[in-house]
Amino acid sequence: MINRLRKFFSAPFQLLLVISFSLIAATSIAIGAWAISYTINNYLSEAMNERVARDMRLAETFYDLMLDEIEGVTATLSKDPLVSEHLKKYQEGDINSQSILTEQIVDQFSRSPLEWSHITAVLDKDCNLVAGYQKTTGDQLRLLESDSNWQCLDLVRNSISSDRSLSETGIIPVELLSQVGLADQARITIIDTPRAAPKVFDSREGSAGLAMVSVSPVKDATGEIIGSVTAFHLLNNDFTLIDSITKNASIDSATVFFGDLRVSTNILNAEGNRAIGTRISQEVSDVVLHNGMEYVGPAFVVDQEYITRYDPLKNHLGEVIGILYVGVKQAEFQRLINSFNQRISLVAFGMVLFTIIITTPVARAITRPLDQLKVLVDANRRIAEGDMSVRVPVRAGGDVGLLETSFNSMLDTLQATQDQLVQSEKLASVGQLAAGVAHELNNPLGTVLLYSDILLKELDPDSPYRDDIEVIVNETKRCKGIVSALLEFARQYQVVAQPTDLNALIRDVAEVEIKHYPDSLVEVIYDLDPSLPTIQADTAQMHQVLVNLIDNAIEAMPDGGELTLRTQSKPTGMISLEIADTGVGIPSENVVKVFTPFFTTKPTGKGTGLGLAIVYGIIKLHRGQIGVRSEVDKGTIVTIQLPIILQDTGKATPLTSIFEESL
Ligand code: ADP
Ligand code: MG
Repeated sequence: MINRLRKFFSAPFQLLLVISFSLIAATSIAIGAWAISYTINNYLSEAMNERVARDMRLAETFYDLMLDEIEGVTATLSKDPLVSEHLKKYQEGDINSQSILTEQIVDQFSRSPLEWSHITAVLDKDCNLVAGYQKTTGDQLRLLESDSNWQCLDLVRNSISSDRSLSETGIIPVELLSQVGLADQARITIIDTPRAAPKVFDSREGSAGLAMVSVSPVKDATGEIIGSVTAFHLLNNDFTLIDSITKNASIDSATVFFGDLRVSTNILNAEGNRAIGTRISQEVSDVVLHNGMEYVGPAFVVDQEYITRYDPLKNHLGEVIGILYVGVKQAEFQRLINSFNQRISLVAFGMVLFTIIITTPVARAITRPLDQLKVLVDANRRIAEGDMSVRVPVRAGGDVGLLETSFNSMLDTLQATQDQLVQSEKLASVGQLAAGVAHELNNPLGTVLLYSDILLKELDPDSPYRDDIEVIVNETKRCKGIVSALLEFARQYQVVAQPTDLNALIRDVAEVEIKHYPDSLVEVIYDLDPSLPTIQADTAQMHQVLVNLIDNAIEAMPDGGELTLRTQSKPTGMISLEIADTGVGIPSENVVKVFTPFFTTKPTGKGTGLGLAIVYGIIKLHRGQIGVRSEVDKGTIVTIQLPIILQDTGKATPLTSIFEESL
């Protein structure tokens, strides 16, 4: 598997690219995913808060509805003329009136059987109970004993004194609850709750009751207040309101607090019972009970986290006496967030995977030139090891293709130069050797020539040895010629620059040289630039150059032809000289050899192969250029370029060393 991977990422650079691309993609995708997730989380939590706010509005509506209905009962009864008439009569001493009042209350119940009213009572002006019923569980009505006084309820007193119907969430003291038989229902054992305030908010918590209370004053025919109808619904341990809120409005959880004590709730404790008797955390209590403000936010309720809202419950005087709470389980919210985050992560992961898949071929395309460069590097190594035959395959197009082409042509040049270098080294040492030998031979040859010459002169004209001696003299002269050519070649050359009229020099040399070949049918054509400047050159050496080149040209045309001598001035501070013939030409494999010393194609005794070598040396000493173009059977053109102004080198140089330097 790993091997396959390694093969897949053939170059480490490619792997690096894939990893970097993927990292960049992963980072930006991660940041994007985080930003989206953050925004959505915020949005969801806002939506959750809004939902809780809506739940609270619903709960309050239910709460107000219930209070309204209780108020409806008291208002209807208080305006009933029979109630007013018989309350009056009762106060005037008519005991029978009490039973009529009781009947009226029962009648009211039968007309609109109210779910939520534990106590309905008719009180006299001094708050003494005249007639009343308690609705017991199972909707039974129980007649109240008529010896209780309700003076203790502020709401009753205030309703009578202000001549108005009043409703509130109020506190019913334990004494009154005992008189009407509700003390047991109201009693709640306070459970120690972690994070609750050290002291309860209201010392009556646990015994007194939280209730929805409504009072409507009763007037006689003259409009004078003679008493009231009072009804209340005890909230302690009663779940009518809470269940109706949670079921009808599909609210997760709702609770009514008396002070900081849970008196009615749908939240269950660990045992599966309603969590009555536990207390609110101090943090919430401070905000809602002490400061009278609502509390919104996440909170730990009984056994788990809820997104909560707590609104204060106030009595008719505006005092905070309890709390209405609604909440949504955070687990639900968390589930939403989790599923959303899961989806985002999945998409992000998919995108990274996609990037890797896309990146791999891209990285391959990017690194392909590197593979090609590897071929170049390999070739370089082989060259360093001495293999000059290496060439890289040129693949079409691109910068790398260009590089490959120039690499190959550089190698071609390098190889040619190296071949030349080897050749010139060989030639230079051969030249030096030959020059040394020639020097040594020069003196003995002179002696041989001198004595054979004397011998020839002293010999009798008819001597049979005469022919032989003549052969010795001639052959010795030929040897002398070769030796002096060799010495010429090995001579120390020093350029003595002087103004030279090249055109005139050409005419002089050509006229003299053509006479050396009396049988020749060569026609000389002068194409000399009249505006050719006088150049600085060593005239004697230039003379020698022209002699050698013109001789070669004439010798190349044994059957006659045209010898063209051409000069031209150049704009670059140079002049050019061309010697062109229509002779036998030079085969292309020989063109490179013609300047090498001792290269000759002429028969023994005719050529020394040193003519062009000397020409080459002299032109180089003059800082000039020389080149040969030739075609077999068509002719040859030798081209020379020379500077017009020449700095005198002042230094004697043997031509052999010029070959060492530059061939
Ligand atoms: P040599 O004339 O003694 O042979 P050179 O150095 O002058 O020596 O010339 C070398 C060789 O170059 C000649 O033998 C000949 O083969 C060739 N060569 C030189 N000039 C010409 C020419 N103009 N046409 C044809 N071949 C030439
Ligand atoms: Mg020659």
